[in-house]
Amino acid sequence: MALIVKKFGGSSVATTEKIMAVAERVLREKKPEDKMVVVVSAMGDTTDDLIAMAKELNADPYAFPREMDMLLSTGEQITISLLAMAFQKLGQPSVALTGAQAGIEANHSYTKGRILNVKPERVKKELALGKVVVVAGFQGVNGSGDIVTLGRGGSDTSAVALAGGLQADVCEIFTDVDGVYSADPRVVASAKKMQEITYNEMLELARLGAVVMQPRSVEMGMHYGVPIHVRSTFSQNDGTIIKEVCDVEEKESVVRGVAHDSNVAKIAVLGVPDQPGIAYSIFSELSKANVDVDMIVQSVRNEEKNIIDMLFTVAKSDLPKAKAISEEIGRQMKAGGVQVDDSVAKVSVVGAGMLGHPGIAAEMFGALGKAGINIEVISTSEISISCLIQAEHVKTAVNAIHDCFFKKEA
Ligand code: ADP
Ligand code: ASP
Ligand code: MG
Repeated sequence: MALIVKKFGGSSVATTEKIMAVAERVLREKKPEDKMVVVVSAMGDTTDDLIAMAKELNADPYAFPREMDMLLSTGEQITISLLAMAFQKLGQPSVALTGAQAGIEANHSYTKGRILNVKPERVKKELALGKVVVVAGFQGVNGSGDIVTLGRGGSDTSAVALAGGLQADVCEIFTDVDGVYSADPRVVASAKKMQEITYNEMLELARLGAVVMQPRSVEMGMHYGVPIHVRSTFSQNDGTIIKEVCDVEEKESVVRGVAHDSNVAKIAVLGVPDQPGIAYSIFSELSKANVDVDMIVQSVRNEEKNIIDMLFTVAKSDLPKAKAISEEIGRQMKAGGVQVDDSVAKVSVVGAGMLGHPGIAAEMFGALGKAGINIEVISTSEISISCLIQAEHVKTAVNAIHDCFFKKEA
């Protein structure tokens, strides 16, 4: 007997026909003694449509995060109801559960919730009754009894957390591509599918924009030691296994993948007095407002005026909040002004063996230079290098970098 958690993303359940096809596939693959939990996303572009509706009422609907979560969580609830009905139509007992009913407990960070605990007692009870349990992804319940959503792509995290909490044998993520590739296959035609990838490398790719897995879901997999199988809803092919250590040596290059992220905005606080505590003032206020800051650069001091410029990036959805905070702090500090640019993007290379290979950075910068693309900000981690560029060049940049590291071995 196996206990399997399967997650189907938005495009896999975009219509009632597709929902029926998911039910049929799950039952085809289920051995009689297997226990199945199916986590689903909202149908097709439902989440985007709900956000667009909220924007019709308010330019920054995230200013009402509790109500935003009340709204956004409805998308997944449509899918669970329909999928549980589809199973029952096929003669398979099934029950639809919300995140709260499935025991997914989250913190109070509305619209960016983090799962604190999984208490899947109800799920176990329903499985013991022979039902296929269908759970709404992307949502949990906080200590006040409110629904909290888990950030875009959060159904991945619901699925892996449930798999961990239930000690499932595997968590399968069904999506519209047949695995994890060396770059987004929609952007780079020659991207290569990986058989396996480590949690660490996948986490870095996801963090840097590879939306195929939400970063938190990979952390969950690592935490619980659950193997994750990323595969296609629309084919039977094996996909990519995400796990602790890779058994298959796929290639020599230290670069495993190229990621890009266009959900980025740049903020510059100009002419800030160069004195101790300045960075703290800016970033502590942003942190209190739950704004994640990514790349940070402080310019060289202007000796004459004793001022510096502070530049950083945030997610586009946080831009209105981050801009207002920066302007307020800027006023208090008597800074020269605040500039924002939401037409930027980040391109990155990832590879666990990168440390100790300084040539990788040079090659990446060379590829961008040859393509005539200007680098605005650079940041590095032990296993990645990222460059901020203008968003209009992102496709050219990703292809140039991918060609540079992957074409030579083709
Ligand atoms: P779902 O709705 O199933 O959760 P997503 O759109 O969130 O699907 O994730 C799948 C998409 O991730 C793919 O269509 C692909 O364009 C994108 N993607 C980005 N980077 C990668 C990568 N390295 N490998 C595979 N897919 C990627
Ligand atoms: N429906 C949510 C989103 O579009 C969650 C998910 O699909 O994982 O982000
Ligand atoms: Mg997704």
